[in-house]
Parts: sequence; C-alpha cells; structure tokens
Amino acid sequence: MDAVSGRGRRVVWPGGGWVTWCGRVGVGELAAGCVVGCAVRGGAGRLRVSYTARVSTPDCLFCRIVAGEIPATVVRETATTLAFRDIDPKAPVHVLVIPKEHYADVATLGQGDPALAGEVLATAAAVAEDEGLLGDGFRLLFNTGAYGGQEVFHAHAHLLGGAPLGPMLARSVA
Ligand code: AMP
Repeated sequence: MDAVSGRGRRVVWPGGGWVTWCGRVGVGELAAGCVVGCAVRGGAGRLRVSYTARVSTPDCLFCRIVAGEIPATVVRETATTLAFRDIDPKAPVHVLVIPKEHYADVATLGQGDPALAGEVLATAAAVAEDEGLLGDGFRLLFNTGAYGGQEVFHAHAHLLGGAPLGPMLARSVA
C-alpha cells in the first residue's frame, strides 16, 4: 500500500515512512494493514479518526512478499512478522524473518520500534525451534548497509543452521 485514503483527500507517501493524518473517514476506507495507531471519537453517523500509519514502499521486494504480490515459501507468520525461506539458501536451513512494516534495516527498526524488533527475534526463535535448530545451534544475523553487504533494504534476519557454519567472518577481514 502506497497511500492512505480519507474522505475527500488522499495522502501519498511514495518513499515509504510515517504519515500522521487526522480527518474524517468512512470506516471502509481504513486499510487494516496500514493503520498502526488509531484513536476514534464517535459522531452522528461519522467517525473522527486520528491515526498514524506506516505505509510500505511500493518497489520494496519484501513489502511485495508481505502483500502477496511475489510468492515465497512462508514457514511462519504472525500479525507483525513473516518468515520465509531464502530463495538462494546458504545453509541447509536458511529462513528470512522480517517485520511486515517497512524498515530499511535493523538499525532503523531497533530505534523506531524496539517492540517490533523483539517480535522479529521471537519469530526467529520459534522458527529455529520448528526447524529443529535449538539443540545444535544456529546463526541469526542482520546484514546492514554497504559494509554489512545488505542487498534488500527491508530489515530482515537471516536464520541459518542445519550444519556447522564455520567462523562468522573470514579471518582476513578481522
Ligand atoms: P541481504 O544481502 O542481507 O540483503 O539478503 C537478502 C537475501 O534475500 C539474500 O539472501 C537473497 O537470497 C534473498 N532473496 C532475494 N530475493 C528473494 C525472494 N524473492 N525470496 C526469498 N529470498 C530472497
């Protein structure tokens, strides 16, 4: 979703990000997936709604997976997170765990919504258990920015396991 609609007006935020908007809307115009904070005061047949919505980035690959526009092998879903298998696995188990809301990386996620960051970790732990990784262990990592080798700029944890993974970094990098 790249827009928040209200009666008589349309707020478009093509780059993604927070939109705070207060106005009169019809109930049917509220898109459940985009409203994250909402205060409602009753009126005569109308609602006055003040809400803060986070809109996803239309050209973000992982937002499109969340929206169901691009297929993925989903292994776990919660109200706020999604876990799906990496299309190019680097280990016998390689699952990506993402917040459904768009945050560019784990730094903006952790600072912008620490509770949601915790939900990503909880989902990753649940997937690790589902995949039988708790006994032998696993690796959970967030590539971040250019030096971190991040390629998809929607925060995601890589859950890797199912075999010994070796050292975290090549010794030449350390
Ligand atoms: P990163 O380098 O940390 O940004 O990781 C991005 C990951 O997304 C890579 O491991 C890719 O293999 C993975 N990836 C890219 N496209 C898809 C897709 N359509 N479905 C699942 N995983 C994907």
